[in-house]
Amino acid sequence: MRRNLICSPFLAGAPLLAGALLLAGALLRAAGVCAADAPSGAFVLHPAQVWSADGKAAHAGWSVVVQDGRILAVGADGSVPTPTGAHRIDLPGTTLLPGLMDIHSHLFLHPYNEKLWNDQVLTEPVAYRTLRAARQAQATLLAGFTVLRDLGTEGADYADVSLKQAIEDGLYPGPHLYVATRAIVATGTYGPLPRGFRPDICCTPQGAQEASGVPEVIKAVREQAGRGADWIKVYADYRWGPGGSAQPTFTQEELNALVMAAHTSGRPVAAHATTVEGMRRAILAGVDTIEHGFDGTEELFRMMAARGIAYLPTLTAQEAYAQYFEHYVPGGGASNELIENSARAFRLALKSGVTIGCGSDVGVFAHGTNYRELEWMVRDGMTPVQALLAATAVDARILRKDGELGQIKPGLAADLIAVPGDPLQSIAAVEHVSFVMKGGVIYKQP
Ligand SMILES: [Zn+2]
Repeated sequence: MRRNLICSPFLAGAPLLAGALLLAGALLRAAGVCAADAPSGAFVLHPAQVWSADGKAAHAGWSVVVQDGRILAVGADGSVPTPTGAHRIDLPGTTLLPGLMDIHSHLFLHPYNEKLWNDQVLTEPVAYRTLRAARQAQATLLAGFTVLRDLGTEGADYADVSLKQAIEDGLYPGPHLYVATRAIVATGTYGPLPRGFRPDICCTPQGAQEASGVPEVIKAVREQAGRGADWIKVYADYRWGPGGSAQPTFTQEELNALVMAAHTSGRPVAAHATTVEGMRRAILAGVDTIEHGFDGTEELFRMMAARGIAYLPTLTAQEAYAQYFEHYVPGGGASNELIENSARAFRLALKSGVTIGCGSDVGVFAHGTNYRELEWMVRDGMTPVQALLAATAVDARILRKDGELGQIKPGLAADLIAVPGDPLQSIAAVEHVSFVMKGGVIYKQP
């Protein structure tokens, strides 16, 4: 999944010495290419404190040793083994923590106040959207988010599979990606067609793959899996009811078949669901995560907790919608129904004991500002520690990658970031990530 050697197209096959990397890092970044590490690169990181996302407090005076792209040791300064030739990196005044994760993203979208969703899907060629997505992946990584689960290209076909490959091949800097490709919607329920268009228009690009009936949903799962989907994304409800109201989309039978087909292939299912009935059907079908859940009830969250279904609240998306379409001014003091409803659901979810991860729906708002979701989770009732856990160890567990990512622990991938001060006291510190390492490669340093 990860490679030790990551370099620019010009440097392919010619690993730089780690020392040269440190000196050249800023230049490489300025040129918009990624850095390269020597396969044997070793580093000793000295922050003011280390927070490992293992349920314990932060440790002052600890250092982290990285070798060959993995964490070799963590412990008090002087007590950890230092490989010969290891490069010392001082990060004074910072907290070192695992790379952050946002497991509900859309790299192939950009904010709707720049261009409405319909216009992006209908007018932007897939090639343009892919180039843009690569740029947005870089912004995400430099903001300290080393993992994304990208939940649908929204009309850009299977381009996320190629973007993921290009990042893994070292052609572009970006987070580890887990992708969902086209996503699956019930016929006629999503967009751009048919709502708002004359009925004799057909065959425009669609925001997701349409399916109806058990054979078609099974076929859609198999097609997407075959073309590289890591997760299957399904819309269990959408705003296709009378007057644009949100209503369930698939029947219970269709959803059951979809989940069965996905699980048969070894792939988990993420369900978009905002309504009570959409959530209930998704839960009964046995999906693995529920996205949004804005109308979620205590009973539904308890059902999710009992069945091990995780919740991704996407609180920031609601703020963005309120801003774009309801004249909401952030920090302006006025209340907004969308924001209040998502906060209500979040508090119920917290109380119910359901697993809550960090997933923001970024793409609706600007890539590289994913940190807003952590700030919202704290505003709506989590402690900073809970929010940071959601965006590290908990997200890793939801992704079934907790043996690989999400903590500072020997043997795990060296995905590490530093922020000034103490994010465990003030979550806003995550806005100012000063150091980023992914897979033992430095992408940003003070
Ligand atoms: Zn989304």
